[in-house]
Formats: sequence, structure tokens, C-alpha cells
Amino acid sequence: MKYAKHIGLLLTAVLVAGIVAGADEEAPTGYTDTPLLPGSKWHVHDGARPHPQVVTPGTFSTDPQPGKPPSDAVILFDGKTLDAWAAEEGGGPAKWKIQDGYMEVQAGAGDIVTKQKFSDYQLHVEFREPTPATGHSQERGNSGVFLAGLYEVQVLDGYNNITYSDGQVSSLYGQSPPLVNAARPPGQWQTYDIIFTTPRFAGGKVSKPGYVTVLLNGVVTQDHTELLGPTVHHALPKWVVHAPDMPVKLQDHHMPVRFRNIWIRPLARTN
Ligand code: MG
Repeated sequence: MKYAKHIGLLLTAVLVAGIVAGADEEAPTGYTDTPLLPGSKWHVHDGARPHPQVVTPGTFSTDPQPGKPPSDAVILFDGKTLDAWAAEEGGGPAKWKIQDGYMEVQAGAGDIVTKQKFSDYQLHVEFREPTPATGHSQERGNSGVFLAGLYEVQVLDGYNNITYSDGQVSSLYGQSPPLVNAARPPGQWQTYDIIFTTPRFAGGKVSKPGYVTVLLNGVVTQDHTELLGPTVHHALPKWVVHAPDMPVKLQDHHMPVRFRNIWIRPLARTN
């Protein structure tokens, strides 16, 4: 009886597995007899809808190793050359220091901008704050990642360093404090993963708002935050009409902040 029960269970398991396998084999890869999605030319589960591009994911950064970019990323800095960058002022070569796989702000060399322009994107940047830490508030490890060259995601030493909230590391400077302070101590590599939707303009006004989502060290610090205008200090932003495609800018705030492993993935819906 005992064995009969086991055999019964085994047969049931085989039967269920067979049904599941059969269902897999015969599973349709799409439908056309389903309703149209609102505002779309595609049906629910539409088999003709283009498939997403295959991307090989990268790896996460672990100190001291930088992460590996996903397969479709545009590499902006691989640790060896500043060829993808130019000085913002004058457009000549970017004159920041390169050493041991990182670039370092060269005080007085000025802000640097990507030669290529981008509209909506996912941007990955790794940075390291100077150690030992010197100065306080905005004078400690200040730099910045400027989306569209205009909207600053603040780079600052945020570890045991009090400053105004909307100027902290991972703030949209002067506009939106981070949700939390996820800073690592100076001397450790930190990561920014930024998703940016650039504002669109029509008739001299914003026709579609711009948004910024930021993860600092894997922690969400800006959640689809709406931009108020280009970054300014000590004032209210005022909109400036610009093209959708703009460079990414890194700030020379006269402090030796380091950057490495910078890559970007332009975003556009193709399916
Ligand atoms: Mg800054």
C-alpha cells in the first residue's frame, strides 16, 4: 500500500510535467484576436509587435573594481582616454588628469562636455571623493554631473558633511534634495545611475516636462523628479529653450574629484 501510494504520486507528477511541457511546446507566440491597446496599433499579446533588442547586461561596480557596461552602452570614459570629451570653454581638448583608470578634475581646467549629444538616456557614472576630506559644506569634494549640460545632479562629499539639503550629493542642485543620504565615505568609489528625460519646448515654452531619476550607490534618491529649469546658484531657475540633443557635462569646482567607468544608453521606444 505504501509503495502504491508513492507510485500514484509519481504517476501524477509525470502526468502534470507532461501537461506543462506540452503546454510549453504549443504555447502561441502571439495573438491577433485580442483587443487593441488604447492609443496603439498593437493588440494585446500581439505576435507582430517588434521584439526588444537583446542586450548583455554588465556587472555592478565593487570597490576597487569598476563595473562592466552593458553590451549596447556608448562608452564615454573607459579609464584610458578623454577622446569623448572636450573643454566646454573654447571646445579644445579636455585637460583633466588621467591616471590608473580614472580621470580627476584638474582645478582651473574648466568643465568638460561630451562631444556627442544625447536626448533621453540612462547614464552611469562612478566617482570618488578626495581623501583625507578637506573643507566643509559645499567646499568638500564638489563637482557635478550636468544633464543636457544644464541640469546638475550634485557631486559632493556627503559623508558626515552638513550642507543645505538641496545642495547635498544626489540633489538636483537648488531644486530637489535627495530622498535619502546614501553617500559612502571619501576614498570609496560611488555609483550614479541616472535616468533622464529631457524637457521639450514649443513656442518658447516647455511642452513636455523634463524628469530625473537617480540611484546613488543603488539607492533611489530622485524618483522621477520634475525639473524646474537650468541649475542656478542662489536664485530661481528660468527656462532656457534648448534642443533635445545636448552634451553631458562634468563640473570643475576646483576640487580633485575622480571619475571612472562612464557610459550612457540613449533611450527610445522602438517596440
Ligand atoms: Mg557641483
